[in-house]
Amino acid sequence: MENNKELFSQIDNFLKNFSGKRIIISGHINTDFDCLGSILSFYKILKEFYKKDTYVFLERNVYDYVFQKVTERASINVITEDSNIDFNSFDLLVTLDTSDWKRVPEFLRDYTKNLPKLVIDHHGDNERFGDLNIIIPGAAATGVIVYNFAKFIDYNIDKVFAELIYITILGDTGRFAYSNTTKEVFDIVSELCETGIDCSEIYRVLFSNESPIKYKLLSYVLDNMELLLDGKLCLFKLPQSIVEKYNASKSDTEGFVDYTLKLRGVKIGVMAYIYEDKNEVKYSLRAVKGINLRDIVKVFGGGGHPQAAGCRINGAFEETWEKLLKEIKKYV
Ligand code: 5GP
Ligand code: MN
Repeated sequence: MENNKELFSQIDNFLKNFSGKRIIISGHINTDFDCLGSILSFYKILKEFYKKDTYVFLERNVYDYVFQKVTERASINVITEDSNIDFNSFDLLVTLDTSDWKRVPEFLRDYTKNLPKLVIDHHGDNERFGDLNIIIPGAAATGVIVYNFAKFIDYNIDKVFAELIYITILGDTGRFAYSNTTKEVFDIVSELCETGIDCSEIYRVLFSNESPIKYKLLSYVLDNMELLLDGKLCLFKLPQSIVEKYNASKSDTEGFVDYTLKLRGVKIGVMAYIYEDKNEVKYSLRAVKGINLRDIVKVFGGGGHPQAAGCRINGAFEETWEKLLKEIKKYV
């Protein structure tokens, strides 16, 4: 935090000098808990501390039951494509946890491409598409950046805000399992607990609220996992048509790829989400410590973190997999 003071004062100055009226906040497509918690907590700072007319955008297709519960608990309204608002009325776009412009929801990109942009993120490979880019790769979650910034400006950290930050940390540390689970993380969590947040209740809302549909789909996934490269690689394919057969959607697959690394001996786990209609495969990768997945996905224009990354490759599954497997073999 100490060495980030210069960065935090840049955010503070940027917002103090911002003379426009309306701000729109967005995260990335396939929104996850770090993304959700950081956009909602930053919304509170903009609204309460900087007194800005602020909106949070979430794509309709990701705004599911659990996300709705989280936003309800924080008493924050989010807008989607369907909201009755003039999307041309914004003066600034703030993105959090979003490593490149292509990952801003397409609907919003159309309306905000010419606006000034403030980019706050912890992805080391952030492409810096903002007018001000605050990128802190050492932060376990983007929410950690928001939290330290809140302390820097002396924002009144209440229980609601603390809960949102806790959600970002639970999400991006894999519930205190990944290598970014550090002393700083536990120090912050201990401070968050001082506001009276109910950790077990938050856990219940986030992780004990799965739909029966997701469970059925998970059973398909577990049934279809393949072990390759002497058990060091675990792959499962999930065609969009199967997901639809289960009446599920892409957001129901959140967390599935983590099951791959639970298997003994697996070093890299891969979910291949196959969009048959678009002739495209979305790959989600997870790896144990010591492997840098970014080296693998960057070949295909993807990105993420060393142990959790993703990319999209055009083509039918077989040809895309052949290319990806060739890269994976260089590292396992
Ligand atoms: P997941 O594959 O689980 O959606 O994402 C894992 C991590 O990789 C996240 O930090 C996410 O932002 C990043 N990621 C996933 N897919 C892509 C992609 O296509 N491009 C980039 N730049 N990052 C990705
Ligand atoms: Mn994140």
